[in-house]
Amino acid sequence: MTSTVTKLFDFDNTLAAALPELVLPWQPVEVPDPQLVAFNAEMAAAVSVDPEALRGEHGVAVLAGNAVPDGTETMAMAYAGHQFGSYSPRLGDGRALLLGEVIDADGRRVDIHLKGSGRTPFSRGGDGKATVGPMLREFLMAEAMHALGVPTGRALAVVTTGEQIFRQSPEPGAVLTRVAAGHLRVGTFEYAVRLEDRSVIRRLADYAIERHYPALAGEQSRYLEFLLSVIETQASLIARWMAVGFIHGVMNTDNMTISGETIDYGPCAFMDRYDQRTVYSSIDHQGRYAFGNQPTIAHWNLTRLAETLLPVIAEDHGVEPESLIPVLSEVLDGFGDRFRAHWADGMRAKLGLSAQAAEASDADADGDGDDDLLRSLVELLQEHRPDYTSFFRSLARSLRGDEGVPEVAATWVAAWRERLAAEDRNPVEVAAAMDAVNPIYIPRNHLVDEALAAAESGDMGPFDELLSVLADPFTERDGLERYAQPAPEDFNRTFRTFCGT
Ligand code: AMP
Ligand code: MG
Repeated sequence: MTSTVTKLFDFDNTLAAALPELVLPWQPVEVPDPQLVAFNAEMAAAVSVDPEALRGEHGVAVLAGNAVPDGTETMAMAYAGHQFGSYSPRLGDGRALLLGEVIDADGRRVDIHLKGSGRTPFSRGGDGKATVGPMLREFLMAEAMHALGVPTGRALAVVTTGEQIFRQSPEPGAVLTRVAAGHLRVGTFEYAVRLEDRSVIRRLADYAIERHYPALAGEQSRYLEFLLSVIETQASLIARWMAVGFIHGVMNTDNMTISGETIDYGPCAFMDRYDQRTVYSSIDHQGRYAFGNQPTIAHWNLTRLAETLLPVIAEDHGVEPESLIPVLSEVLDGFGDRFRAHWADGMRAKLGLSAQAAEASDADADGDGDDDLLRSLVELLQEHRPDYTSFFRSLARSLRGDEGVPEVAATWVAAWRERLAAEDRNPVEVAAAMDAVNPIYIPRNHLVDEALAAAESGDMGPFDELLSVLADPFTERDGLERYAQPAPEDFNRTFRTFCGT
């Protein structure tokens, strides 16, 4: 039995009233011995909660799912999704619950979500539980992404539960509390459009517009505009992933948000040596979600979203859905151009280029003048596979004259220097601008592993230290050399990530 406690959060719930068909009121399962092991005081303040209250006994009971605060009702959200390309009609929150919505310090509506809070009617064969390693991993990765400037849901806390959860071996159970702009997914739309009640998909789209793209509310062509907006935010998001070398690992449609934030950090990882084919996830046997495939998969997922909007767009235009297929295909094809434009902007910044090259080469007269430079960079990286993160810091060092560039890169570097010279900026200033966008510290797999192994044996020291290093990823600090080092070669050969279990 969970008890009620006085309010911590100032809830302002809207989802259940707007879309009762998509939520199921459900209680978290009580756990024996909640202990707070990771806490994000900055996030607590951001969601207007007194950090001390949340760390107190009642607060921790809420974070463990042992108490539901006043002013809210916990809900499991329904969704479907394409997992590795195959459709599952009913996924939903099988081990998570929406605790409620709050308005954050910036006036933005956010979800407070529990993960690992016990079985729900969506659990299928699962136990509804989460273990401490993966929950701390999600905490750390999300914080790192936030510090890198990538839109993401964030962690508020991890509480261990005092239970042993059986995975490959018994592991300590845990509950993660996370905060995100929303948990509507492409999979939510896939679920809604297949319900008998035809009004749900329209209400869902209106709700998503109101919440995430309010400028479109009330517009005649809002559903088409909504699709365009999601295409744009996802193009921008995936471009940022690609620029920092992030591999989500499980880009199923149920893990792709409508808000454009990164969520559901399961088997994700940062790439060490550059290789488009990089896959770390133990379950991605075909490399569907390999680093270089992410833009293609995003387009594939957005096509699934477009399919769900086809009936409402057709209805509003008074035409047959089939007649709209060419229109929507063209809209979807816009993803590629948008992605490339965002990616090129991101890469230019990484290379210290302040603007798009003025003139395109004859070969692509109406293209991006830096196309050739960026294409040859990717070829260079793919051929020689340097450590992706260090590569850009070493380019900046070469501008300061601190370091030469490897011989194999000399031709490309000469072209880059020539392009930089055209901007006529001081090389030392350019190097500083590059260091401000090229991280020196990322959550390298061997460091994350080491921190989680220590945490699992009760020592939070390495986790806390890594978290603090990653909070400022761009500023090189004395004494943190080991955090900037690539993993030993044999580590990466065998390194695998496991999917959120
Ligand atoms: P994920 O791969 O974490 O995005 O989860 C995919 C689906 O599996 C979602 O519906 C989850 O709620 C569900 N799921 C994952 N792990 C568990 C678990 N241990 N118990 C119940 N459901 C789970
Ligand atoms: Mg998921």
